Amino acid sequence: FEATVRRVTREQGPQELFLVLLRDLTEAQRVERMRADFVANASHELRTPLASLIGFIETLQGPARNDAKARERFLEVMAVQARRMSRLIDDLMSLSRIELKAHMRPGTVVDLAPIVEHVAEAMQPLAAGQGVEIRVEVRERPVQVVGDRDELAQVFQNLIHNAVKYGHSGGSVEIELRRQARGGTRPEAAVVTVRDHGPGIPPEHIPRLTERFYRVDVASSRDKGGTGLGLAIVKHIMTRHRGQLTIESEVGKGAAFSVFLDVAGGRGKDVAAATPMA
Ligand code: ADP
Repeated sequence: FEATVRRVTREQGPQELFLVLLRDLTEAQRVERMRADFVANASHELRTPLASLIGFIETLQGPARNDAKARERFLEVMAVQARRMSRLIDDLMSLSRIELKAHMRPGTVVDLAPIVEHVAEAMQPLAAGQGVEIRVEVRERPVQVVGDRDELAQVFQNLIHNAVKYGHSGGSVEIELRRQARGGTRPEAAVVTVRDHGPGIPPEHIPRLTERFYRVDVASSRDKGGTGLGLAIVKHIMTRHRGQLTIESEVGKGAAFSVFLDVAGGRGKDVAAATPMA
């Protein structure tokens, strides 16, 4: 229930009345509320760099008009803010694209080995720039799953990017691809683990990490160019793939993010194109 109390002043009779409104927040309303919160959060996230950009533009038009040094410095900061807005919009678009497809199961058999290797290779320059070494261990190949190649690549990219961002400079990030037997009638699992040796994550934060815009440390995330949407995107992609994400961490020692997907039965053949989920 949601309770709202309103004070009503009347011309006749008792001067003041209190009106108590009780509303049953049904599931639909809760979803609507979440959507509204999301729009408010997204607007706030966009407004912060925008306000900074407007401030710098006004300074450059006014007090700093003839100050070449200040101009140089301000333009650099403005470029950082503009890139941040651009990344945020890219991530918002990704989330919205994945949500649109949420009810469609991906319908192609893909091999995870080359996807993991390509993403890791593409991240090497960024990691090298942070003094981080990326090591990849593909224990088996092929490791086939039913999935969307681009979306799975985005999952690995987001996890590796976080490991590089939050890992310690001079440290390493290990990526492992393996198969794991599961009990009962469940198919074998394909497991990709991304492990870093950074500060780790206090346990109370772990269950909330995949919420949109949730960060353990807002300032640190912003400093590192984070949008707060990376893990929300990972979660959405994993849900669409009927996979799982697990997060293990020991504070001070690092974090390990693992994704689990069912290994596909057939080898190398396409299954029926995107079938709606039951
Ligand atoms: P961001 O853009 O802020 O990195 P994410 O959704 O990718 O957003 O991650 C959410 C938060 O989870 C981050 O702000 C950070 O606090 C925490 N986090 C994610 N990955 C790691 C990691 N490898 N080590 C420590 N903290 C992490």
